[in-house]
Amino acid sequence: MSKRRESGTSSSKEQELTEEKWQAILGNDPSYDGHFFYAVKSTGIFCRPSCKSKAPKRENVRIFASATQALQEQFRPCKRCKPTGERLPDEEWVAVMTAYIDRNYSEPISLEFLAEMCHGSPYHLHRTFKKVMAITPTEYLRRTRIARARQYLVQTDQSIAEIGAMVGLPNTSYFITLFKRITGGTPAGYRQRNKVQQAMNPDMEGANDETEQEYRLLDNCET
Ligand SMILES: [Zn+2]
Repeated sequence: MSKRRESGTSSSKEQELTEEKWQAILGNDPSYDGHFFYAVKSTGIFCRPSCKSKAPKRENVRIFASATQALQEQFRPCKRCKPTGERLPDEEWVAVMTAYIDRNYSEPISLEFLAEMCHGSPYHLHRTFKKVMAITPTEYLRRTRIARARQYLVQTDQSIAEIGAMVGLPNTSYFITLFKRITGGTPAGYRQRNKVQQAMNPDMEGANDETEQEYRLLDNCET
């Protein structure tokens, strides 16, 4: 049995009951709270891993990534460990953060500010965000800004500096550096290329497929 944490809590509904999770349930291990929830078929109730209630039979256990998913499968939250709790399930909490970033990317946003907005510590927010989204909140903010910048570059005639400021990156040289890092090219080059492509194919929205690969590469080096 390995002590390794499974990475990638995927969005698939139900998870496998690994030996690691089973040991966490038997040991009421609070460090797994929020990482998964377990439901017990025979009682129709679901719990946090740390719940002190009697250990279930292994064959009756179902594992879910979020309380929402267990609720969708008609399990009721345990009265003792309150798995739906006062706290929102991680996915919903992170959705609040991404919605905030998507609306306010043009303003300065710090992790501390985001944490205050979303009622959590910066550390917990960072950790939860990364678990759900597989990237850090800072990286999400950067990518949101660069994605908007690409739209503006293609759809407007604003200068590079103006577009940088519009997406919350008023320091133009930093904007260009970040743009290069994420897309692999300069803002001016991106605009130029899209103008050429649009002239050739007016239905095309923009040449933004090539960046997906880079996103994945970046994930590996930024932790
Ligand atoms: Zn419980």
